[in-house]
Formats: sequence, C-alpha cells, structure tokens
Amino acid sequence: MSESDMKYLCRTCKKKCDDIPKHMMSVHNFSKTVVESQLKANPNCYNNSFEIIE
Ligand SMILES: [Zn+2]
Repeated sequence: MSESDMKYLCRTCKKKCDDIPKHMMSVHNFSKTVVESQLKANPNCYNNSFEIIE
C-alpha cells in the first residue's frame, strides 16, 4: 500500500490510514466489538478524530 492510498490523518497519533475502524483497532487497541457498537450508535463518531487528506 502506497502513501497516496492513505485518506485519513489521525489527530491523536498523527498517523495516516485508509480505514478508520481498522486504525482504531490496530493502532489504538480498540476491540472490534467496541468500534462496531460506537459506529452503530453514531456513524460519525470518529469524524472529529480524523482529518481527511485531500
Ligand atoms: Zn491514531
């Protein structure tokens, strides 16, 4: 995966990623269950935590 595929910049750890749920799980050690239930409760819940890279 190349750098240009990275679409989001995490404001917490300043790392780039292309998949927010995956980033929360692999970098921030969120469990899949937690990520899924948070997104179900509010699909935009991570929007403030990530910057979209144009
Ligand atoms: Zn992060």
